[in-house]
Amino acid sequence: MKYLILRRLSQFSIIFLYFGANAWGWKILQGNLSSSKIFETIPMSDPYAILQIFFAGSVVAVDALIGGLVALAFYVIIGGRAFCSWVCPINIVTETASYVRGKLNIQKYQEGRVIITRNSRYYILVTSLVLSSIFGVAAFEFLSPISIVTRGLIFGLGVGVATLVLIFLFDLFVLKDGWCGHFCPLGGFYSLIGRFSLIRVKHNAETCTACMKCKEVCPEKDVLFMVSKESLSVNMGECTLCGRCIDVCGDNSMKFHIRDYLKKESK
Ligand code: SF4
Ligand code: SF4
Repeated sequence: MKYLILRRLSQFSIIFLYFGANAWGWKILQGNLSSSKIFETIPMSDPYAILQIFFAGSVVAVDALIGGLVALAFYVIIGGRAFCSWVCPINIVTETASYVRGKLNIQKYQEGRVIITRNSRYYILVTSLVLSSIFGVAAFEFLSPISIVTRGLIFGLGVGVATLVLIFLFDLFVLKDGWCGHFCPLGGFYSLIGRFSLIRVKHNAETCTACMKCKEVCPEKDVLFMVSKESLSVNMGECTLCGRCIDVCGDNSMKFHIRDYLKKESK
């Protein structure tokens, strides 16, 4: 539970700081997940939103551009989809849906019924950029449940609640890890960044007893193809660095580690 608790602390603290900035004028973290400022100085912008604005042909403000580069550098170092597990509020809802789905054993009744490729998120990502350039607006930002929910949490829930309920019901009854694992283009964008990131999870096949608990809890099981076979880092960008595999591993075979770009990994 260690990483789960830390992640929830991180997610709730970030939203609380945004809320505090709006409600009480705090200066620690102002704005929202699309565009913020830390201590009124360091800008942080959503690099995917900046990319859409760029494709839309609009002028990107210098502050926003710098903020996008700061965020990009941050997530290359920390891990692209660390945004998903440690920052994004939707993740709390989708992980809850996944947990309830497991408890109710819903998957058993749906075996083979709903098959959608996880690559859909990359197709949606490309489509959003094409649509941005055709219509001259940041296409996904209009519909983004992440923006709707974050704004709702900071400024007062309204349509944000409906969005959360829809995503929860979809993930619970229709498709396991439906939104985050299949459709969210922002998660797809951070997956692409995550391929280069410094912090990784490493699997030690020598101590692994092949209980497969890590695969049971992992929201992106394909990234754990090496489990019980090879001692390798989880290098696929889809890993959300959630640490769930580390939390459940009783063999101490999963650990966070810093990637050595020069060293060839032992097999
Ligand atoms: S996949 Fe999208 S909605 Fe899900 S946690 Fe990541 S950014 Fe948030
Ligand atoms: S490999 Fe581990 S850290 Fe990565 S997504 Fe799966 S459970 Fe989370």
